[in-house]
Amino acid sequence: MTKDYLKDASLQTKVINIGVDTDAAHGSVMPPIYLSTNFSFEGLGKKRTYDYARSGNPTREIIAEVIAELEGGAGAVMTASGLAALDLLWQDLDRANPIAPAATPDPTAPKSKRVVVPHDCYGGTQRLLNARHKQGLIECVYVDQSDEAALSAALAEPTALLLLETPSNPLMRLIDLEKLIKLGQDAGARVAVDNTFLSPALQNPITFGADYVVHSTTKYINGHSDVIGGALVCAHAADVLPMRWWANCVGATAPAFDSYMTLRGVRTLFVRIKQAQESAQAVAEYLHNHPAVKVVHYPGLPSHPQHDLAKRQQKGPGAMMSFELAGGLEAVKTVFEDIDLFSLAESLGGVESLIVHPGSMTHAAMSPEAQATAGIAPGLVRLSIGLEDAADLIKALDKALGRLA
Ligand code: PLP
Repeated sequence: MTKDYLKDASLQTKVINIGVDTDAAHGSVMPPIYLSTNFSFEGLGKKRTYDYARSGNPTREIIAEVIAELEGGAGAVMTASGLAALDLLWQDLDRANPIAPAATPDPTAPKSKRVVVPHDCYGGTQRLLNARHKQGLIECVYVDQSDEAALSAALAEPTALLLLETPSNPLMRLIDLEKLIKLGQDAGARVAVDNTFLSPALQNPITFGADYVVHSTTKYINGHSDVIGGALVCAHAADVLPMRWWANCVGATAPAFDSYMTLRGVRTLFVRIKQAQESAQAVAEYLHNHPAVKVVHYPGLPSHPQHDLAKRQQKGPGAMMSFELAGGLEAVKTVFEDIDLFSLAESLGGVESLIVHPGSMTHAAMSPEAQATAGIAPGLVRLSIGLEDAADLIKALDKALGRLA
């Protein structure tokens, strides 16, 4: 569907223009939404492009094309949530004997159902992996992905899939994508990267060799905190149909209305990210200089241990950050008691700014010991910077932090 003149256009142009002015019926500039669950046959044995909306839907097709373009992939599968997208990754781990009819068997693929995963990946991903492990679908091995020796040791046994997440949540630790993707692939594994935290506007793992990219489109891609959704982008054309087959088989495909909303949201991805990131830099600098703050974890600060890697691997530092209050949990309670503008809520990547206490909210499932090992201190606070005026965000933080004096 991509028009010829878009082939050489920038991603920012593509994200605006794909699907625009393509409606043959009425010339509607914005692509219409097709809510119908079913599509008629032209006649007996004469199927049109679509027949049933779980397997295919024109509205979903456009957002899939946009996201595949943004990530530089061969195709994308739009799912009902980020977790549904992740769950497609391990349906056909035995690539020598795939179940999906469209898959090409690869006799050289490792005979393994081993999935190597970062020990600090998103908690919902861990819950899903643990459940699939208990079912026997996969053998899940957690590893500190910043420890290359531990990762190499984990990959020494035949491994089907390596899942990476960068920056990490909530400490904003980065991993070297090029290096680790190569490490995984040299060991015979396919490599998937969860790119939710930065969005395709700021990081493109396929350019570093990733086989798959996963998104919770719930976050920056939709960007308005009003749709739960996900995307699985396949770098290789041969993987697209098998993954679509699985999404249809398990009923994980994204609804038409959600696809329409997400398409509407993604059109402004680049301008949203640009603005949020600019404000995030100002907020991070303010926090860095505040006496009540022990440390700020933000890749845009020269004090971040991987500031140079961020500059090399990312198109920008993003709009997520965390900081540790010197006064620990008591200080967090004081700040959260009266903070303007920031909503005390999980999730991220929306137009509105959010504040979270990882220890008791996003990472509450981890024991206090596990939190301590992972570096999640009781005084740690995470921010998702939205599109409010940076001066107002700093004013709100200054007022709340002022209560600590
Ligand atoms: N991956 C990451 C990094 C996330 O932060 C989340 C949700 O917070 C998910 C995946 C899961 O996405 P969803 O909530 O859309 O299922």
